[in-house]
Amino acid sequence: MPHAIRVHVFGGPEVMKWEEVQLGEPGPGQVKIKQHAAGVNYLDVYHRTGLYPMALPITPGSEGAGQVIAVGEGVADLTAGDRVAYAGPIGGYAEERLIAADRLVKLPADISYEMAAAMMLQGMTVRYLVKETYPVTKDSVVLWHAAAGGVGLIACQWLAHIGATMIGTVGSDEKVKLARKNGCTHVVNYRTEDFVARVKEITGGAGVDVVYDSVGKDTFPKSLDCLKPRGMWVSFGNASGPVPPFEMGMLAQKGSLYATRASLFTYIAQRQALVDNANDVMDMVRLGRVKIRVTKTYPMADAAQAHRDLEARATTGSVVLLADYAEPRVTPLAGTDGGED
Ligand code: NDP
Repeated sequence: MPHAIRVHVFGGPEVMKWEEVQLGEPGPGQVKIKQHAAGVNYLDVYHRTGLYPMALPITPGSEGAGQVIAVGEGVADLTAGDRVAYAGPIGGYAEERLIAADRLVKLPADISYEMAAAMMLQGMTVRYLVKETYPVTKDSVVLWHAAAGGVGLIACQWLAHIGATMIGTVGSDEKVKLARKNGCTHVVNYRTEDFVARVKEITGGAGVDVVYDSVGKDTFPKSLDCLKPRGMWVSFGNASGPVPPFEMGMLAQKGSLYATRASLFTYIAQRQALVDNANDVMDMVRLGRVKIRVTKTYPMADAAQAHRDLEARATTGSVVLLADYAEPRVTPLAGTDGGED
């Protein structure tokens, strides 16, 4: 019987148990996939802790890649043996899973399962944020928090390709080097420097056009003080805890600001939007404009350790769980000295 990580009570990493699961056959519109790799995302932490509540038990994980092994009724465009990947439906930390066929995209032969599991959710997030939430151009000045993380390192490269000016914040001097190496124009260590003062200094007092903030509680409301009048605050995560409730009037006081709380799953809810986004990300990767930095892999059964490292701010780039895990494969700080380019 295949195994999966199961969470029966919300809590710390220790609540994730590696258990046998009975899957059954795919229903109408579904396929069964044998997963080779599953992405680890901060979203999985919110699911595990219950910050985003759901009915238990759950198998965390919203991103993965593998091979179709069985096809349900009415699925016309997938057959057994197809290589596929997804971002969205929870249940990723599993050797095998059932999933709606219309949430899958086929993988080109030159994209590995490991790479796909690292880029579907994080890559599509960067793409919708910079193309749709606020259309970034070469003239834009952007502030991006946690610029050396999984989403962050993809953002550094994507914004460098656009030609925008990016100010990135990070939590260590090592991460400063990494973000810079990946194309971030100015990098600020927000544990040792006041990022509002640094943004004002870098922009000559003008402020930035848009702030992408996935840190949440700890960077609020300072992120708003970094914006130009009528700038856009894009809140898209809670790594330090959720943003507290605030008065709308604050947006007027700080310069008629715009604010949105964005989620990838709204932007890829329609099948065509998912396909367009995924194709764009795959093109960026295949053209070498974005390199997916998988800095650490873990056996899928060790998901708890991956979560401990992610929450301790000890990871950079993307982290992946492997089902058929053989040897530890770590590329320390890929993109810095000696890292693969
Ligand atoms: P990361 O690899 O970026 O890890 C989170 C990073 O947040 C840490 O490495 C750390 O970087 C920073 N951080 C700041 N304060 C804290 C804290 N108190 N505890 C832990 N980390 C902290 O994760 P992901 O790439 O998976 O995701 C990045 C963010 O994007 C998350 O908030 C996630 O929820 C969000 N997200 C949102 C989506 C959406 O559509 N809304 C979709 C995908 C991701 P440092 O040390 O440099 O500060």
